[in-house]
Amino acid sequence: MAQHKRAPRKLINSPEKPLTEAAIVSATLDFSNGATFQLEDERAPGMEAIKGPATALESIPLQQETIRNSLIRVMTEPGRLAEEVCRGQASFNATVRAHRIVNPITNGLTITYYEMFHSVFSVAKQGLLILLDPARGFGKKLCRCQYSKCGKFFLAIQPKGGGRPQTIYCGEQSRDDDGELKSHLHLGHKERGARRMRKLRATPKRRGNTK
Ligand SMILES: [Zn+2]
Repeated sequence: MAQHKRAPRKLINSPEKPLTEAAIVSATLDFSNGATFQLEDERAPGMEAIKGPATALESIPLQQETIRNSLIRVMTEPGRLAEEVCRGQASFNATVRAHRIVNPITNGLTITYYEMFHSVFSVAKQGLLILLDPARGFGKKLCRCQYSKCGKFFLAIQPKGGGRPQTIYCGEQSRDDDGELKSHLHLGHKERGARRMRKLRATPKRRGNTK
């Protein structure tokens, strides 16, 4: 998988504008796909900073691999992963603290929760919890790009004009052998066609062999 050597993206979390669950899941997938982030977390008043070891740069690829392996399990064995996560809850909670924020509005109030993260890894671990909760609906949309040179995780893409969501190939583009930018849907289909042709040529002709 190609690692992106782009500048880290900013991930901003504050009591005024806490990261939404959708943003946490999106950051989790991007992180697992090789993106790096710079987390800026403003503490809520009265909340103490959690002093954790600063993430050493060299440990990031390892963390990304950990998240990737867990994402595969979210897709293949969510129940077993969930059981392990719940049994070893400490490792998932240790770096996150929640703070409730209530704000008055004309006919009542709003309740929001600000959760503090001290590393992108802890954001990603929270993302895994969100993906494992079926009620939240993210987990069932989790897909992995089948284009052999990609393999990135993404959430099922709803086509703009309606219709069935795209679940096999991510929405990215790469250059083909001629240097042209093509969607992974296009490249993946081409690859599958070529694979089918190779298989067809390797298989002795038999009556009724349609593959
Ligand atoms: Zn892809």
